[in-house]
Amino acid sequence: MSFDPGSSVQDYLVFGEFGDVNPSITDSSTYTFLSPDTMEELFDHEIEGCFLYSRHWNPINKYLSQALARMEDSEAAQVTASGMSAITCAILQLCSTGDEIISSRTIYGGTYAFFKNFLPRFGISVKFVNMMDLDAIQEAIGDKTRLIYCETMSNPLLEIADIPRISKIAHAHNLQLMVDNTFSPMLFSPLRMGADIVVHSMTKFINGTSDCVAGCICASDAFIHQLIDVNSGANMLLGPVLDSYRAASILKNLHSLHLRMRKHSENAQYLAERLEELGLRTFYPGLASHPQHELMKKLMNPGFGYGGMLAIDLEDLKTANRLMVKMQEEKVGYLAVSLGYFKTLFSSPGHSTSSEIPEEDRVAMGLSDGLVRISIGLDNDIERTYQRILTSLRVIGRLDMMPV
Ligand code: PLP
Repeated sequence: MSFDPGSSVQDYLVFGEFGDVNPSITDSSTYTFLSPDTMEELFDHEIEGCFLYSRHWNPINKYLSQALARMEDSEAAQVTASGMSAITCAILQLCSTGDEIISSRTIYGGTYAFFKNFLPRFGISVKFVNMMDLDAIQEAIGDKTRLIYCETMSNPLLEIADIPRISKIAHAHNLQLMVDNTFSPMLFSPLRMGADIVVHSMTKFINGTSDCVAGCICASDAFIHQLIDVNSGANMLLGPVLDSYRAASILKNLHSLHLRMRKHSENAQYLAERLEELGLRTFYPGLASHPQHELMKKLMNPGFGYGGMLAIDLEDLKTANRLMVKMQEEKVGYLAVSLGYFKTLFSSPGHSTSSEIPEEDRVAMGLSDGLVRISIGLDNDIERTYQRILTSLRVIGRLDMMPV
């Protein structure tokens, strides 16, 4: 049964204090009570419409969480101050000393570093596997395994995880499946495909304006309540609270996400096809040459395209760097990390966002030193952008080398 996350978000209607079409921004860390009894009661359990302290809950963070739950079709959601805090809190809530995680080897560098360098300090170990190899996942499962972790569309190689089949493996062993859907909001609904927990860095497409850092966790009501439990909740006790002003602006931006994703995808598809025609090694799930193109066609929500991310392989870092500098001069976009901005952003993951991954692992996963990851913007005239990329390739001498 197909699902329309755009319409689902659109149907979420909340009003401000005076019937404002945008919910009022709550500008307080604490809330007053007429009776101490109600305050005590609220410590014990939620009371509809009552708030105690902004680290627990505040109205605007609640509204944003509810809208995100609609987008991911989850029972509940919790917004956080960053994507990393969404990931780390959810993991620390689920795993204890002695537990093991099976993780995709192609994940965001910060998550990789948390798994490889930080979790072992708490006695939690991580096995990295190729998520495209379902037998390898199956074989890696042991007595201590608690959780399988992957990205729906991986960073930076844009591999597509077969969530329905991975979730079957997870559930057959009583494991949870946690999925980072940062690269593909709207395009995929991992919870509907069998995942148990979805996390996002809202810093990227969901917000879309590169003006703040934020994250969220979408999951069952029971899990979200565990996260905010005053005695044992990772979010409550580690405290990565999203600021109310930011929550308000992200909520407004969320309502145009369906349109933005469509345009990001349309522009990325155009460029990916042209760049591949030039003979450049191009990674984009909307290309027939992409190893999981057919799988994506089967799993994606219709109408949003194949996403705004693409990567090209320039083979060596020097060439990649020269191209990026030239593309910035030609106004293709910015040489900057991050993604999902309305302008085009490009970086070399091997030496930035994936540099935490050791070289031998990068080689094993096919992440070349010359990979340029491009987050395609909302350019009105994408042919003009393509011509600027062509000029940049020509200036660095790459065009002459290719069979046009
Ligand atoms: N997940 C993915 C796929 C990312 O690309 C990033 C950041 O680049 C993160 C998580 C971390 O998010 P944040 O920077 O908002 O903490």
